Amino acid sequence: MDNTSDVIVIGAGFAGLTAARELAHAGKRVTVLEARDRIGGRTWLDERMGLNLELGGTWVHWTQPHVWAELRRYGIGLAPSPVPQNAYWWNGARAIAGSPDELLKLLDRPNELLAARSREVFPQPFAPLESALLADFDDVSLLDEIDLLPISAEQRALLESFWTLNFNGRIEDAAFTQALRWVALTNGDWKVMFEACATYKIAGGTKALAQAIQADTTAEFRLGTDVRSISQDDRGAVLATADGVQYKADDVVLAVPIQTLRRIAFTPALPLAVETAAEQGQLGLGTKVWFTIEGEHPAFVALGGADWPLNFFQSEYIANNKTFVIGFGPDSHAIDAEDTAAIQQLLNRLVPDATVVESVGHNWVDDEYARETWPMHRIGFLTDSLPALQQPHGRIRIAGSDIADGWGGFIDGAIDSGLKAARAILTTAQPVAV
Ligand SMILES: Cc1cc2nc3c(=O)[nH]c(=O)nc-3n(C[C@H](O)[C@H](O)[C@H](O)COP(=O)(O)OP(=O)(O)OC[C@H]3O[C@@H](n4cnc5c(N)ncnc54)[C@H](O)[C@@H]3O)c2cc1C
Repeated sequence: MDNTSDVIVIGAGFAGLTAARELAHAGKRVTVLEARDRIGGRTWLDERMGLNLELGGTWVHWTQPHVWAELRRYGIGLAPSPVPQNAYWWNGARAIAGSPDELLKLLDRPNELLAARSREVFPQPFAPLESALLADFDDVSLLDEIDLLPISAEQRALLESFWTLNFNGRIEDAAFTQALRWVALTNGDWKVMFEACATYKIAGGTKALAQAIQADTTAEFRLGTDVRSISQDDRGAVLATADGVQYKADDVVLAVPIQTLRRIAFTPALPLAVETAAEQGQLGLGTKVWFTIEGEHPAFVALGGADWPLNFFQSEYIANNKTFVIGFGPDSHAIDAEDTAAIQQLLNRLVPDATVVESVGHNWVDDEYARETWPMHRIGFLTDSLPALQQPHGRIRIAGSDIADGWGGFIDGAIDSGLKAARAILTTAQPVAV
């Protein structure tokens, strides 16, 4: 087996897939080394409870230019989530049942206030490091900013829970800049931002897009190949896998989540700022569970308390006289995805007549090839970590949704970052010696 390539791409998530396609289209010999036995990374369409369910990344939107371009390129359409008929929420003291419009209205003013300066701070949200106000805002905690808003206790409870949902994690150390950038990406409109996060799925699932990109490249894929070390010098890069096999290349695209970088031994070591970013990690440490409830329920959304193990529910499908519901929570260790009794107890705080039948999920935080769900930045990430993560490190270019310029945290960001890494390799005459 020839283990020598022009470029090795580590990771077959959307960043790695995109980089591999671009490099191969440009004539490079590309090998993709992927630790899992499948492509797609933190997106994973799999058959569970009798349906094909998205266990990871799911929703996309036309305001996300890179994923949108890919869908158009391969002729893949959208599969809309159902329009909710009912809404339930926790107002900080008790459960309320109402309409989705009422819930949106309660969230409207607080979000307008919170994100009022989104376009001022990020006039170009795809160039976050060029913001003249970055230094003033990047050390501000989202929770502290929420605490300053002149809003009612109910609005406060809902806003905190809404942003805990968006971060899929605790928001004490969450960067206010991340919230501002998200809203700036939809031109300052938080409702469009929310629509982008949870409304339109990919027809055929994320797998359809991942497979379309893979089918469009001559890159060679080696699945089940866990890279554990990368050495580089002026002759090239040498990678070694967990089972001791070596691979050689001129350039490396390292398209893995930053929290997994510590599993790889680098010679020479990566800069301290990169090591520190990997050590500190991101804040998306929560959970996504799927469960069924008995009977056919009109589509609903439900927003619970920020500190509940599952603080958001959205019904998605009806099949076999059951309603399929997604739940999100901020701490993957606070609830077991298969604990139907615990899920039932949380759901019943808001939706009393629902009986949970079955539940599934994947613990991305305990998954050694992910260690996080969607990457959400802590305070100071943009100023302290992103510049170093985006630099070339000799022959290595880090890629991935974790370090994307625009829709970081999303499939779109992964694709954007993969394009950028490939372009950087193709436009650099010689790999930079270390
Ligand atoms: C529960 C959940 C819900 C989400 N919801 C949405 C959503 O609705 N919309 C949206 O746009 N985004 C969503 N996301 C985020 C989105 O899925 C990710 O941001 C995106 O898929 C990340 O792509 P990536 O290529 O950067 O990284 P990944 O997909 O993580 O790919 C990295 C790859 O590297 C591999 N790898 C890691 N270490 C090694 C190693 N040492 N050697 C070889 N291979 C290695 C991994 O196995 C993986 O396949 C969600 C994510 C999760 C987990």
